Amino acid sequence: VTVERTELVVIGAGPAGLGAAIEAARAGLEVVVVDENPRMGGQIFRQLPQEFELNDRALLGKEQRRGQAFFSELAGLPIRFLHNATAWGVFGERILEIVHQGRTFPLSGEAVILATGAFDRPVPLPGWSLPGVLTVGGAQNLLKAQRILPGRRILMAGTGPLLLVVASQLVTAGAELAAVAEAVPAWRLLPHIGALVRAWSITRDGLGYRWNVLRARVPWITPFILVRIEGHQNVERAVVARADAQWRPVPSTERAFEVDTVCIGYGLLPSVELARIFGCALRYDSRADAWLPLRSEDFETTVPGVFSVGDGAGIGGAVVAAEEGRIAGLTVAGRLRELERSTLEGRVAAARRRLERLARFRAAMDDVYHVRPGVHELLTEETILCRCEEVRVGAIEEAIAEGVTALDPLKAWTRAGMGPCQARMCGTPTAHLLARRTGASVEALGCYRVRPPVKPVPIDALVAHAR
Ligand SMILES: Cc1cc2nc3c(=O)[nH]c(=O)nc-3n(C[C@H](O)[C@H](O)[C@H](O)COP(=O)(O)OP(=O)(O)OC[C@H]3O[C@@H](n4cnc5c(N)ncnc54)[C@H](O)[C@@H]3O)c2cc1C
Repeated sequence: VTVERTELVVIGAGPAGLGAAIEAARAGLEVVVVDENPRMGGQIFRQLPQEFELNDRALLGKEQRRGQAFFSELAGLPIRFLHNATAWGVFGERILEIVHQGRTFPLSGEAVILATGAFDRPVPLPGWSLPGVLTVGGAQNLLKAQRILPGRRILMAGTGPLLLVVASQLVTAGAELAAVAEAVPAWRLLPHIGALVRAWSITRDGLGYRWNVLRARVPWITPFILVRIEGHQNVERAVVARADAQWRPVPSTERAFEVDTVCIGYGLLPSVELARIFGCALRYDSRADAWLPLRSEDFETTVPGVFSVGDGAGIGGAVVAAEEGRIAGLTVAGRLRELERSTLEGRVAAARRRLERLARFRAAMDDVYHVRPGVHELLTEETILCRCEEVRVGAIEEAIAEGVTALDPLKAWTRAGMGPCQARMCGTPTAHLLARRTGASVEALGCYRVRPPVKPVPIDALVAHAR
């Protein structure tokens, strides 16, 4: 098999990957950017399919304009984009396996920048697998990429900025929101007022979103969490309850809403599967309740030449993602080309300053909206934990009762985590369940071993590869 070679491979065409590609290509590097989506932009700057005509440019507001400004930086740069392309495995030193246009091939870079972004934190609770339940990111995706509302009458539940942004976007798009249940009361922001004012442009956007939801008279109930979803074939009702400081439901405070759709958003989890399959060392961040790659100050992982930037290395938002990408791109350029030191260092220093300006704001968001333990405790025996393999909590409990005390044996015993999502959905909730039952910490349990393919690959591409 011939390995395609280039100087820099970037996985992900969101703000982090594009920031990296722009800086590296400007310095004259040969760059290939690989992304699963049909068009560049990642989550925040997700674009409509090329064939769509846009007559409601205002719907998603500033983000569309910011995205266009970002894309204009790419003009004239000789970057090779592989869209609808997925990196699904790592088979050698900085060699990724890519599936694209029905074939799979190895792609190697002298450096690799992983900019794989994040996904909505899965929160298993009774009824979460009913048709009509989706994540807030999924709802936004429908809106951004297809201009489709997720349902007729919607309850939103979760916490943090994305919940607010999507509530506002749904209202603007004409959705009927029965209520938004936010787990954290607004007063928790008060000790961070200085950080919010210092990041005024982001705070102002947040206030704008809040005003938009308020103006539409959508009940904003807080501190409330979603405890269960009811219905036969589809969602019929969502039940929320007042949450204590640990997000545990307070008895006798339940409120039911007749809805056909529920959007759940308790924050995001970084996509670290490629970093893990590369063998990069990870650390468990208990505040983020996530495994994050260990990185140098230039965002290089513990595997030389492999960098990790943006939300895929820790949730920081689009501006942080872009700046981290730029620093990694400049660092690679500095290693592979004879560049004028002062120019390079000046550009890196400018990006670092922009990151520092946001550091307090990021810390404030993490402090206020980090996930609390109650959200992991909503399960009943009947709740499906692993959706791919349809494994219920009861089956996991049985295995634990039989003496299984570690994640990989639990996977072998129950099949939870073996399906196409490769434990992206059930990995974290299963670790929390096992930790509660065995008394071990989530950190001590580690995470499921990752095996290729980390994302589904069409079988005919593999067959063609084997011939
Ligand atoms: C669902 C969702 C919605 C969001 N909405 C907003 C919002 O409205 N406003 C806001 O301010 N912030 C939003 N955020 C946060 C914001 O999008 C991120 O902070 C920002 O986009 C991070 O940029 P990034 O480049 O790190 O990752 P992303 O923008 O997520 O880009 C990562 C890219 O990597 C690609 N990718 C991942 N794995 C592979 C692979 N194996 N092979 C090929 N390609 C791969 C993905 O397709 C994606 O395009 C959202 C985040 C998510 C997850």
